[in-house]
Amino acid sequence: MSGFTTLQLHGGDAPADAHAARATPLYLTAGFVFDDADHAGERFAGGDGGLTYTRYGNPTVEAVERRIAALEGGGGALLLGSGQAALAIALLGLAGAGDRVLSAASIYEGTRGLLLENLPRLGIEADFVEDAGDLAAWEAAIRPGTRAVFVESIPNPKNDLVDLDAIAGLAHRHGLPVVVDNTLATPYLYRPVEHGADVVVHSASKFLAGHGTVLGGVIVDAGRFDWEPERFPQLFAPTRVGGPSPAERHGALAFIGHLRDDVAPRFGPTASPFNAFLIQQGVETLSLRVARSNENAIAIARHLESRPEVHSVDHAGLASSPYHAIARRDFPRGAGSVFSFTLRGGRPAARAFIDAVSLFTRMTHLGDVRSLIPHPASTTHTQRSDDELRRAGIWPGLIRLSVGIEDLPDLLDDLERAFTAVAALERAAPPASARPELTATEP
Ligand SMILES: *Cc1c(COP(=O)(O)O)cnc(C)c1O
Repeated sequence: MSGFTTLQLHGGDAPADAHAARATPLYLTAGFVFDDADHAGERFAGGDGGLTYTRYGNPTVEAVERRIAALEGGGGALLLGSGQAALAIALLGLAGAGDRVLSAASIYEGTRGLLLENLPRLGIEADFVEDAGDLAAWEAAIRPGTRAVFVESIPNPKNDLVDLDAIAGLAHRHGLPVVVDNTLATPYLYRPVEHGADVVVHSASKFLAGHGTVLGGVIVDAGRFDWEPERFPQLFAPTRVGGPSPAERHGALAFIGHLRDDVAPRFGPTASPFNAFLIQQGVETLSLRVARSNENAIAIARHLESRPEVHSVDHAGLASSPYHAIARRDFPRGAGSVFSFTLRGGRPAARAFIDAVSLFTRMTHLGDVRSLIPHPASTTHTQRSDDELRRAGIWPGLIRLSVGIEDLPDLLDDLERAFTAVAALERAAPPASARPELTATEP
């Protein structure tokens, strides 16, 4: 099996169940029966590798884990209840009180909040690198307590791609694992493990599930990081009663084994087998959906760039993007279908634009088969100060698109309707400032 689409259908297939079901069966069960008292004891001792309780393992959930691990080129995976659960559990498995996480500044707002507010309450501090392209800045920010380096493969809304090979090379020279949120790229466009990532995280709620129906998250362990016992003692500690450590139990997959055995089941953000079933269905068409969304997205990005009402378009697939060279080198199948553009007319124009669409859905989700349109400055990014928004390039006139698989002419028609609304607004009230896209002319 070598083709991605073959792998998304067959990767990680287990022997058929008792009824030889072709599709992955849905095991909607809390627990699994023991034959007798001794059998129960063996199960708990881990003897026969069988299942006990769905928080520790479930056949439907494990089928998805094997398939996503195969698609990402990793050694093992853990499916959890949401993308945020996956990020929290991955970071809690790496860092404890007194440790630090080093992150790019341009990351998903939920993760940024986790690093800025929740983890510090547990004694885990975060450092941020403002310009992720500045290797010297990464190096200067590594401290003795740093335990992980974190980036996103396609940050949103600005599509400011990172040179993962360079960042991973630097992190590894300092003995640090690299965690990559690959949600927007999906393994079809980009496999972080091939660029040096040690741990890959996804919000499976997005492209993997793909249909905007369920939440899920996944952590993939590349299975090749050389964990040092001094920095990661949790992987080398015996159990409370002197049993084997994660490293002894799981070898090269000590990290994901530790998360599966000791971290995720105790904090408890378990994936529902029902959601796992729907994620598996989504994964089976991933390449087709992502390829189609990409074709639509780059065509729309080029169209937007040609419009006089548009100040700028942030899509790394465009030659005008400062990240185009990375896109050309590392994203041969396209740089994704979630991007933003900024209207010259600032916030009033953005509001008129968003109000006028009828095919694009006004929603903050992404990676759906349907096209979605949110206004980051007034929705997803309201926890940033005006100064932080300006530094991140999230202007009042910036609109994000997550382009779906609809027919391109229908999407372009919908955008045309929105441009007509913007023109009508500007005829009625011309922008007051010369650079309205940069000014918050209204709250
Ligand atoms: C949506 C998203 C998350 C959070 O995932 P949920 O499934 O909503 O918890 C994390 N990272 C990125 C890049 C996302 O887009």
